[in-house]
Amino acid sequence: MRTAALLAVLMTLPALAAEPAPVANPFSADWKTPFGVPPFAEIKEAHFLPALKEGMAQQAAEILLIAEAKAVPTFENTIVALERSGQFLDRAGSVFFNLMGAETTPKLQAVNREVMPLMAAHRDDIHLNAKLFQRVRTVWEARAGLKLAPDQARLLERTYKGFVRAGAALTPDQQVRMRAINAEQSKHGVDFGDRLLKATKAFQLVVDQPADLAGLPEGLRMAAAAAAKKAGQEGKWLFTLDGPSIWPFLEYAQNRELRKRLLTGYLERCNQGGDTDTNAIVSRVAALRVEKAQLLGYKTWADYVLEENMAKDPQGVYGLLDQIWKPALEVAKKERAELQAMMAKDLPGQKLEPWDWRYYAEKVKQAKYDFDEEAVKPYFAIDAVRQGAFAVASKLYGITFTEVQGIPVYQKDVRCFEVQELDGRHLGLIYVDYHPRPGKRGGAWMSSYRSPWLKDGKQVDPVVVNVCNFTAPAGDRPALLTSDEVRTLFHEFGHGLHGLFYKGRYRGTAGTPRDFVELPSQVMENWAMEPEVLKLYAKHYKTGEVIPDALMAKMKKAATFGQGFATVEYMAASLLDMDWHTLTTTKPQDTAAFEKASLAKWGLIAEIPPRYRSPYFNHIMGGYAAGYYSYIWSAVLDSDAFQAFKEKGNLFDAATAAKFRAEVLAKGGTEDPALLYQRFRGRDPKVGPLLEKRGLK
Ligand SMILES: [Zn+2]
Repeated sequence: MRTAALLAVLMTLPALAAEPAPVANPFSADWKTPFGVPPFAEIKEAHFLPALKEGMAQQAAEILLIAEAKAVPTFENTIVALERSGQFLDRAGSVFFNLMGAETTPKLQAVNREVMPLMAAHRDDIHLNAKLFQRVRTVWEARAGLKLAPDQARLLERTYKGFVRAGAALTPDQQVRMRAINAEQSKHGVDFGDRLLKATKAFQLVVDQPADLAGLPEGLRMAAAAAAKKAGQEGKWLFTLDGPSIWPFLEYAQNRELRKRLLTGYLERCNQGGDTDTNAIVSRVAALRVEKAQLLGYKTWADYVLEENMAKDPQGVYGLLDQIWKPALEVAKKERAELQAMMAKDLPGQKLEPWDWRYYAEKVKQAKYDFDEEAVKPYFAIDAVRQGAFAVASKLYGITFTEVQGIPVYQKDVRCFEVQELDGRHLGLIYVDYHPRPGKRGGAWMSSYRSPWLKDGKQVDPVVVNVCNFTAPAGDRPALLTSDEVRTLFHEFGHGLHGLFYKGRYRGTAGTPRDFVELPSQVMENWAMEPEVLKLYAKHYKTGEVIPDALMAKMKKAATFGQGFATVEYMAASLLDMDWHTLTTTKPQDTAAFEKASLAKWGLIAEIPPRYRSPYFNHIMGGYAAGYYSYIWSAVLDSDAFQAFKEKGNLFDAATAAKFRAEVLAKGGTEDPALLYQRFRGRDPKVGPLLEKRGLK
């Protein structure tokens, strides 16, 4: 039985016109694969739309039963029942959205365009169902007498607040407007993603004169030659906006004009009119967020978002940013003077520009610390680094990793590892997908195909994935990573551990606030560059020789160099994010003018562009709106947490690791993160260790 409103929504779902519905949809079958992973080879593009629609229909039916139930609302029949609904949608959605990021195609993008507004409406149908909300509220109001365990209390609170924050307590007229805002927002989100991917992959810098390659390391030349050949331009060199291409090019290319062209291509993405321009989208989404926040009784979008985070409100964020921004900017200005002096030797009288920064930073690093980033790369073959990350986790938590051969994967380069406890108990799986492809969006992330929870009394085992865009192998040389890429590998692996270790009984309490979620990831980066750990994994890819002490010492000395730049370019983007989301007006903004005024207000120097500019700031289009500050917030936590190991004089101190796993990693979002942290550390976090690590004090 379905209510008329739900039926109407479901019946308006357009049918698949062009493609006949496949006979057997793998999403409707049991998966008889190893560990029950998705049967990727059987899942075709045409399966997604019907499966996602079926998932929404099933959940709608489940919701209806909960909302229309005659029994008195209880924690079990309402809150837990809601938590259990939507499993089919989750199953189809997890595969679909993972592939949208890692291996998309024009057909998947078309499905995404169709399905996102339907999903937005589906969520609204749940949250704006008056009978359902009444039942949730009844349980919420009775909470004091329910004798709930902490995780149950948390689930109830999250559920109730989730409804209120989605507009359940608004008037019917306001709810109509809320639905319209959500529908429009979801359309813009899809459009933004499509335009950004298109603009990023469309840019090409083709070099046909060997002289223009001067300064570039051999590995980068080989990769560029291979990319050109693939693009039908054999004999030339192709550079792109993918991380492994653009960043080393900017560090090493002597040709200043080409550096300028490449960086400008990056900075002007989605900002040049035409069908990849996103300025209007950015301005419109900001306005919609203001309207939505104010409809819900908040002053700004940031107030709405931050209430659910450790920072609590915009003042909390600006307060922390302020403590770090000023010293970081001072250090960046000193760095600028050093680079300008270095540049004067090459080009007397010329002014340092953004496309010169990385190039001269590399030169200063070599001169001042006798350290060349290229010298360490042979010790960072990707398999060795991955094994290093695994080894750190083994030493800390006693877990083991074994590659699973022959398991279904969505792309042939993807690999899968089984994670087991020391006693052999199965813990979960981790897929790794490390190199750029045309259908993969930029950046690096962790995601899940299956999240752990207690289903019918049995623990569901997690399946997580790390997706990155690291330097690819070239010729017969394995992929050799930069130290940044090494840190990123450890970072995403840390998110993976968080996903693997969660031991809650509910799916709805797995997630943690944005500004806490980067703690498990960033803390792993601390181990990556410790000499003791480097000796475990950093071995020369040809000779097997362990990284020499002298090289490690140089690397350590050079580590704080460039932290002014790194902190400032990141924080400029954080401040820009906060400025966008503390807007109180829905008036359309001139995106470029807004950005310029914001950055000028903070005193950003012209030689350092923010890490992301508004037209391609993917984070804030998605879940990091008023949340990009999270990395530095979590950095305070991770530096302070790592300090706990250092204080013990043992980077692998078993008691500290056990406590971190039990109090932080296994808890997910079952309790207040500030409380979790206090329990691990015995006190609140301090800013000191972060400033010290970055050489900012
Ligand atoms: Zn992260």
